[in-house]
Amino acid sequence: MPISTLRPLAAAALLATALPALAQPGPASACLFIYHAGLHTLPDGSLSDDASPTAQQRYSRLLREARQRITDTFGAPQASPLVVFFSQPQGFGRYRLNAVRSAQFIGSRACVLMGPKGQNVDALAHELVHAEIHHRAGALKRWLQLPTWFDEGVAMQVDYRPRYTLPADDAAKASQVRQLNSFGAFFAGDEQTVVRNYARARYEAAGWLARAVGWAE
Ligand SMILES: [Zn+2]
Repeated sequence: MPISTLRPLAAAALLATALPALAQPGPASACLFIYHAGLHTLPDGSLSDDASPTAQQRYSRLLREARQRITDTFGAPQASPLVVFFSQPQGFGRYRLNAVRSAQFIGSRACVLMGPKGQNVDALAHELVHAEIHHRAGALKRWLQLPTWFDEGVAMQVDYRPRYTLPADDAAKASQVRQLNSFGAFFAGDEQTVVRNYARARYEAAGWLARAVGWAE
């Protein structure tokens, strides 16, 4: 229904709901309008809100190491997402972002947004694999068909953080993660549950890759 046909009170209520979202745009808007966000472009093409040479060298080294890890695991990356490093936990400019990291896909554009709490090789390589899957599977196919547990499980193959190692006594239950096909199902629950989902997804995807494409676990 067009907003002009709503009763004035209802229209005002609708605007009141929508306006805070417009005032504090999130990661999808940041990805869409990234070239208008006043960021600095690094020699490797990534973007940063930090102009200091020390920070930029650190970001470029991190990107090199993450890409190398993907090459060592899956072969040379084919995707070329926009990688953005930002230094403030709340985001950059007017964009409110996750202080750790997120991968955003707007049509064919992929953005990997790395906050100050996520600037390590594990987290960056993980997000770059999401971009790789997006690129190779195609946006629509990924969105419609790829189960979240599988998307996360493949990304976890380059994420070596020990907290996501499956405890030996949980291996028999790991396949339960295959029921978590949607984003909402995978990320439901407390932190401990989500960490367990990641660990199970890493384990299950490694097994699937070994069987399906002869990938060495
Ligand atoms: Zn992920």
